[in-house]
Amino acid sequence: MKRLWLGIIAACLLLPMVASAGPEDYRFPREPGTTKDGYPLPLTGVPITKTPVITRTADTVVKKYPEHYIPGKETLAKDEMRITACGTWGPAPMRIGQGASCLLVQLGNGDTFIFDIGGGTVGNLFALGVHPAELDKVFVTHLHLDHVGGIFPLFDAMGWARNTPLHVWGSSGYSPELGITAFTQHIVAASEWHIQNKQSILPRGGMTIVPHEVDISKFSPDHPREIAYDKNGVKIYAFPVIHALAGAMGYRLEWNGLTFVYTADSQPSTFEAEQGKGADVFIHEIFPSAEEFAHYNHMPLQAAEGVMEEHTTPAELGQVYTIAKPRLGVGSHFTLDDNLIDPLFRRWRTTYDGPVLLMQDLTTINVTSDYIVVRQTRADLLAWPAPPPPPQEGLDLTTGEPSKAKTPDWLIKTGISDNK
Ligand SMILES: [Zn+2]
Ligand SMILES: [Zn+2]
Repeated sequence: MKRLWLGIIAACLLLPMVASAGPEDYRFPREPGTTKDGYPLPLTGVPITKTPVITRTADTVVKKYPEHYIPGKETLAKDEMRITACGTWGPAPMRIGQGASCLLVQLGNGDTFIFDIGGGTVGNLFALGVHPAELDKVFVTHLHLDHVGGIFPLFDAMGWARNTPLHVWGSSGYSPELGITAFTQHIVAASEWHIQNKQSILPRGGMTIVPHEVDISKFSPDHPREIAYDKNGVKIYAFPVIHALAGAMGYRLEWNGLTFVYTADSQPSTFEAEQGKGADVFIHEIFPSAEEFAHYNHMPLQAAEGVMEEHTTPAELGQVYTIAKPRLGVGSHFTLDDNLIDPLFRRWRTTYDGPVLLMQDLTTINVTSDYIVVRQTRADLLAWPAPPPPPQEGLDLTTGEPSKAKTPDWLIKTGISDNK
């Protein structure tokens, strides 16, 4: 009895500690709160914007959405586009709460596209209720590793998950070794050990990558963009941007009267602003100052200034959006920090006063011709893959030859098994 009472007393003492330990929802690990200027804090389940709902006119009726987007529980309307950030950070050490660059774009016609596949993003991607077999189209802006470093785990969604090739679009490059074909060939070649093992166990269909090159030599002032994808009513154009080496590109997706533009990394230019004209949603990089970047990454200021030369300040992004006039202007590729949010928006507002959003991981944007709604996704941290799509006609599920690289017999003989 004494032990029971001690237990009850201990539980009573502990309860208030548990209750005050933090928010109950581990997917939004921080208490709700705002910055001094009234912007929501990161990781609190609220998108970082003061305009989460944008309507075409004052009396536009907006569909009632749940507070959070919960994958698998919400049907996309036939005329609707959904954009979700799977990663929003960039060229610096990765963070648990912010993967590198990656976007998932879903259309009401059932099509799904990935834009960039940075490291630390594939877990978010797989948690969005889309089966890996349908995550097979990736559009790469450029080959900096914060935009392609997550390709291995996406490629690995093979063997009864994606039994068909992964398709990757990207630039032809200044020379062949700098192009998307060489890159994907190297990824497959570097996976040789994995493939030699899996090919006799699993269908070989998913163990290849099909590159789709955009020929950058075709770009000119008279030919500013090149069609990269044209199927099922979806057109995706590529256009050049100024960033690092030749071959960095942005994309413009047009479908059902809706337009999504993504430039990832780029120095600001009137050219890219022109390519973004008429966009419903325009997602562009936004960068802290060289001093801030140097401070958070413990790097010399001179090196940070070198990085800055290849990127865009908030005031410069405002100038791009002043020309492009998107319904929603989005900044991504930014170090999220409570202390940087207000300064960023203040700088942004010096040159632009349209609706803007600072993207964090799992920010979701629903777009229709009448309205745009921004929320945070409430993804299950232990999500299993969504049900698979119906098998494609002619799907080859055959396996290959076993590898000759067998474990030596003397080592096999030491194995321990339930069957022995
Ligand atoms: Zn980047
Ligand atoms: Zn880059």
